[in-house]
Amino acid sequence: MKKRDFVIPFVGLKHAVHHFEFELDESFFETADETYVKNPEIKVDLTFDKTHEPYVLDFKITGTFEGDCDRCAANIKIPVDSSFRIFLEFGNTENDDETEVIYLSREAHDIDLYEHVHDFAFLSIPMVKRCETEADLALCDERVDSFLKKINTPTEDNIDPRWASLKKLKK
Ligand SMILES: [Zn+2]
Repeated sequence: MKKRDFVIPFVGLKHAVHHFEFELDESFFETADETYVKNPEIKVDLTFDKTHEPYVLDFKITGTFEGDCDRCAANIKIPVDSSFRIFLEFGNTENDDETEVIYLSREAHDIDLYEHVHDFAFLSIPMVKRCETEADLALCDERVDSFLKKINTPTEDNIDPRWASLKKLKK
C-alpha cells in the first residue's frame, strides 16, 4: 500500500460506521537497517465510527509473518492479533495521556493514519517468537530433544581431539 492510501477523507463520510482495510506488506515493516518481518500476511481492519463526536477509530491487526522460533530455531508462522483505539476530536484541547486522542481543526477534511498504523503494527509484532499451536509445540519439543541428543552424544566428528588418544584405550 502507498502512504497516501492511509489518508481517510472523513468529511464526505455519512454519520455512520465505516470499515476500511489495509494490507501491510514487507516494505511497510522495513526500517533504515532491517526488515522487521518476513512475508507478512497482515491486515488492519479499521472501524471508523462517525455516528457522533468524538469519532471512534478501532484498529484490529491480524495475520501472520514468518520468523524463527526462539526455542527450536525452526522457521514458523507467527500469529499477530491485537487491537487499538483512538478518538478523533475537534478543537485544540490539551491532549491527556490516558487516552489516544487526535485533535483536528474544524477545517480538516481528512486524516492521515499512516503513522498510527505504523506504530500499532510494530507494537503488534511479538518480541518472543515461539512455536504456539499444538502441532507446532510437539515438533518444537522434538527438535529441541534431537538437538540435545546430538550435542550430548560424542561421535568421531565432534569428540574433543585432546581425548582422542584416550579413546584408543577404551575397550
Ligand atoms: Zn519451536
